[in-house]
Amino acid sequence: MHPSGMAGARSTGAAVLAESLRGLMRGDVIERGDAEYDDVRRVWNGLVDRHPLVIARCADAGDVVAAVKVAREHRPLVSVRGGGHQIAGSAVCDDGLVIDLSAMRNVLVDTAARRVVAAGGATWRDVDAATQADGLAVPGGEVSTTGIGGFTLGGGMGLIMRAHGLACDALRAIEIVTADGALRRASPHEHAELFWAARGGGRGIGVVTSFEFEAYPLGPDVAVVQAFYPWEDAARILADWTALAVRMPETVTPQAILWSVPADPSIPEELHGRKTLIVAGLYCGAPDDGAAVLEPLRRLGMPFLELSGTMPYVAMQSSVDELFPTGGRYYMKSHMMRDLPRAAIDIALEWDARRPTPQTLIAIRTLGGAVSRVSREESAFAHRDARFNFSIDAGWTDPRQDAEAIGWARGMWDALAPFASGVYINFSGLADEADALRDSVFGASTDRLAEVRRTYDPEGLFAAAARQP
Ligand SMILES: Cc1cc2nc3c(=O)[nH]c(=O)nc-3n(C[C@H](O)[C@H](O)[C@H](O)COP(=O)(O)OP(=O)(O)OC[C@H]3O[C@@H](n4cnc5c(N)ncnc54)[C@H](O)[C@@H]3O)c2cc1C
Repeated sequence: MHPSGMAGARSTGAAVLAESLRGLMRGDVIERGDAEYDDVRRVWNGLVDRHPLVIARCADAGDVVAAVKVAREHRPLVSVRGGGHQIAGSAVCDDGLVIDLSAMRNVLVDTAARRVVAAGGATWRDVDAATQADGLAVPGGEVSTTGIGGFTLGGGMGLIMRAHGLACDALRAIEIVTADGALRRASPHEHAELFWAARGGGRGIGVVTSFEFEAYPLGPDVAVVQAFYPWEDAARILADWTALAVRMPETVTPQAILWSVPADPSIPEELHGRKTLIVAGLYCGAPDDGAAVLEPLRRLGMPFLELSGTMPYVAMQSSVDELFPTGGRYYMKSHMMRDLPRAAIDIALEWDARRPTPQTLIAIRTLGGAVSRVSREESAFAHRDARFNFSIDAGWTDPRQDAEAIGWARGMWDALAPFASGVYINFSGLADEADALRDSVFGASTDRLAEVRRTYDPEGLFAAAARQP
């Protein structure tokens, strides 16, 4: 039974909250006992099973203003839902109000100005579909079902970040409903501190109803490399890759992934499940120029499989979607690192040899380039000097494996902690780890962020959201 009583029962608090919202909102108001309640409260990570009192499915910014006003009056615990992909499930709360933006997914593109305005609940699939029609791209994520909301507010690392920066670096303005119920525009010129916070420290500063991005010419086809090397050669290849990755032109954002060959129908069946080191990258420019630039990533050893060549950018951006299905069980945690020395590689491979499931992977992303050219003071994102993000992504389906998979990932993360310079909030584990990680997430931005929250949310309406990863 759910701690607050029968999951289907309607408490007086819920009834009052729901009635107040219904009086003001165009979108749906969903309570326990409603047919869609269980579907709507679920998030991407099947480990998360929270039971909100009421879910306010906002249809537009006006609904968000209404939901915040009702929250001010009744003071429930509040969470904000974008794409629902955060591992910790911070989009939903137990026994509180979820301000759900997942029905707000409009994307408008001004091609001549290279500006994109995307609603707060849009996913990268929505943004890529709209921008690629005009040969433009916003630096987004690597799985197209991920929400732009949490992604951008936490920084946002992707396949073109060394060329064009993090998603939060492409941000030019936001519209945000702050705790007083006002809809404000924040940019470098208006509510500049709020805008600064939104770029990497944007949890719990309000509800962002739209994001305005700069977009960059790219696609529709791009040159990519995906070279699958034998796992047995991983120690040497990873060491060589580390030296190569930071020297590559900024038009490439190299990745190295320790994984097992996925059971994809396009891959010969006899290779499925074989342990491998995948070296990957996308050339951010004309595909014909890309092959030569990407070539060194294919020459680090003898790949036993290659999925390199030219493909549509949208296909690349969604190529692993099916390997991360909604409702699977996941735990992701990462380190930012200034260097990846041989000692760290050796530890990583020792742990990788004991990976709990074939779905589990380790992804090493290269930063630098445009990401490192933004000064530390310009945005709340605190890791401009990191050259790598080392992400440990455990995935499994059987609840009986929860302790083993989470324990393995935490053990590996602990073993690599001596090499770390900080923690990326978007890959930062589960809710119970949030407090222990706070300083490593926000570093030098911690006090300034607290001041922004005091200014725009003096009564702490979004305090719980700010404490979540
Ligand atoms: C399969 C998968 C692939 C991923 N790939 C990448 C990747 O390539 N690069 C990368 O950097 N990260 C990646 N991530 C991590 C991702 O950036 C975070 O999970 C991010 O929080 C997802 O945003 P969301 O809106 O979907 O999440 P949600 O869970 O909805 O939100 C996360 C947090 O942001 C807040 N929030 C969301 N939207 C808003 C809004 N509009 N206004 C105010 N607050 C809001 C929520 O309240 C919550 O606290 C990936 C995650 C998954 C699960």
